[in-house]
Order: sequence, then C-alpha cells, then structure tokens
Amino acid sequence: MITFSFSGQTYQTGRIIGNLEGSSSGPALMFFGAVHGNEPSGVVALQEVFAELESNKVPLAGKLMGVAGNLSALAENRRYIAKDLNRIWTRNQLQNSDSCREALGNEYNEQQELHHLIQPLLEGNRPAYFLDLHTTSSDSAPFIAINDQLENRRFAMKIPVPTVLGIEEFLEGPLLSYLNEFGPVALAFEAGQHDNPESAKTHKSFIYRAMVASGIMQESDIPQADQGKHQAHLENLGRTNRGFYEVVHKRTITNDDNFSMNPGYQNLTSIKKGEILAKDRNGQIQAPVGGRIFMPLYQSSGNDGFFVVRKIPAWAIVLSRLLRNLNFDTALTLLPGVSRHTDHPESLVINKKVARFLAKQIFHLLGYRRKKDNGDVMIFSRREIN
Ligand SMILES: [Zn+2]
Repeated sequence: MITFSFSGQTYQTGRIIGNLEGSSSGPALMFFGAVHGNEPSGVVALQEVFAELESNKVPLAGKLMGVAGNLSALAENRRYIAKDLNRIWTRNQLQNSDSCREALGNEYNEQQELHHLIQPLLEGNRPAYFLDLHTTSSDSAPFIAINDQLENRRFAMKIPVPTVLGIEEFLEGPLLSYLNEFGPVALAFEAGQHDNPESAKTHKSFIYRAMVASGIMQESDIPQADQGKHQAHLENLGRTNRGFYEVVHKRTITNDDNFSMNPGYQNLTSIKKGEILAKDRNGQIQAPVGGRIFMPLYQSSGNDGFFVVRKIPAWAIVLSRLLRNLNFDTALTLLPGVSRHTDHPESLVINKKVARFLAKQIFHLLGYRRKKDNGDVMIFSRREIN
C-alpha cells in the first residue's frame, strides 16, 4: 500500500483498486488510474465507484478491474521516477532483459506488474475494454484520445465529449498503442486539471458511462437518484467542442529548452498560423499551422510542449468508415509509388518522389498511420485489425 494525496485529502491504494466478477457473463473492463503519478484523480474516482457498486449491490455482467498505474510515482506526486510509464510500451522494452531493466529504472517493476494483469484480458476470449484515466496540467474540459481504429471510434461516440484521433503518430510507446495491437477497445479519458476535485467527479461520470456503454452494467441498476446524472454531467462539460479532431503537429521539448507556454491557453482554443504560443531559450515560438491548441504544457515535467489539432468534418468520419469496411486500401497499391511492405503486410511503403500527390489525409482516411519517414520513403501502417 502507498499513501497519496488529492486536493487536500489523504488516500491509500495498492496496485489493485477493485476487482469484481459479475454473476452473469459479459465483457472485461480494466480501468487505469495514475499511469502518471501526478494524476491521482482516476484512482480516487475508481475507489469511490467500487465502494458504491458494492454498497448498492449493482449486478454486473462481466469482469471489472481498477488498477493503479505508477504506484511509486503516485506516492511522490511525480509524473514518473526514472521513465514516463506511458512511453515505454514497446515490445522491445517488455522483453525481460537486463538492459531494459536498467534503462527503465523504477518503472521497470511498475510495467511488469501491470503487464501481468493486462495480458490475461488481452488473450482472453471475451471482449476487452481498457480505459486509461488521465488529467492535464492546464484547466481543460474533458476529452477522449484514441488510436484511430473503428472500434475505438464507435465506443468513443457513446461518450458525449470531444475525441482526438491519431496522437499515436506523434508518441513513442504509449500504453494504448500497445493494447490496440491486440484489437480491444482502448482509450484515454482526460478529465480536467490534475488537482481539481472536479476532475475526480468527471472521472467517476466517465467510469459509469463507459460501464453502461460496454454492457457490463445497466443504467437502471444504479440507484434511481443517480440515473442520468453522469450522462448529464459529461454532456454539460463536453457540449461546446463535441466531434472528432486530428493531431496535425506536436512541439517536442527537452528539459534544457526552458520551455514556457504563454498563459491563458485552454484545450481546443482556436489558434492562427504564426500566433506566438510559447517561448524557450531560443526565443518566441509561433504556431506553425492554424487549428486548435491541444494539451498545452503548464508543468515542468513532460516532453510534449503542445499539440495542434484540427476538426475532422462529419462527412470524412462517415466516408472513412465506409472505405475501411470495403478494404478500399487494397486499391492504393495499384497507384505508382505505393507498394505493400514485403515483411509487414499491414504496412504500405510510399515512394515520396513518385507518389508526392498523395496526401497524408488519404492514408488516415483509410486507417493508416505514419510509422516512419526516412527521406524518400514513408511507411504507413494499418491500425485496423481484421
Ligand atoms: Zn497523463
């Protein structure tokens, strides 16, 4: 057990926050809190939900687990101790070698313990849902971040807050990308600012809505006074910016950059190309493209200064679903400069000199994400799992 605090109160938790097996069969849901140790809100919300489910004897159809992510960092209220636990989920680092153990430091054990809990659900034969609860350094209305797969989109649409797609193209080794390779629904839910008590309330509403959306619980099984409450809470917070967004830019920073975001940027605020957003030791930082600011960094730890996202028109969401269901991507390989990767059939190799007319958006529409860009050749990999 470790002790941590959240908005002035003290709590205790172990790795497993709750673990319930319903009396009838159904999906397996695993919620994560505090994968970043300075984001305790999700753990607090999970503790409250498990206590309520038990005291109200809510019937479940399936398996429900709540786990704490980075316990040692949570005890110190730090994002991580040696390595960001949400950037190390590559197959390489999951292999139990001495060099990995050394490189990952404290986070090695955290990752191994989580991996042992996750793997049986990934390999089990019931539908699995992995829901990762986060908070942000700046004040923010809640939103969902997913890898761009149709199953994820379908589930995200049931939660009435904005959804951001395609962040995996800009991050190395997030937990969700590892999980998605096995095909379950996996999404991150960002509830609001790290220490704001409202974030735990919003996390709780999301947990209940995700449970109902997955079918593990019926809305009518929660106490009558609470029915509709969680949906209304999320609708109220999510109404201004609902819809799908796509990440188009990331500002990477290092610890020596002295990066500092200009004050006042809230998540999804519109920005113009050339607008001065931040400064670092080299001077002012302008927006390289227009769009909306996403996850501006207002804390000292972390290597993503800010992202820029753009809203995806509703027709593109519908069109991409149709094209993916038709496996339209097979037609792309008929074009000059586009070929299927010989060793990795899920990947397309694009010769940029020949196929320069092909916009990245076409690949996104068809469910491909850029994996590598080395000069003349770009590799896009399919996110959909057949
Ligand atoms: Zn986080």
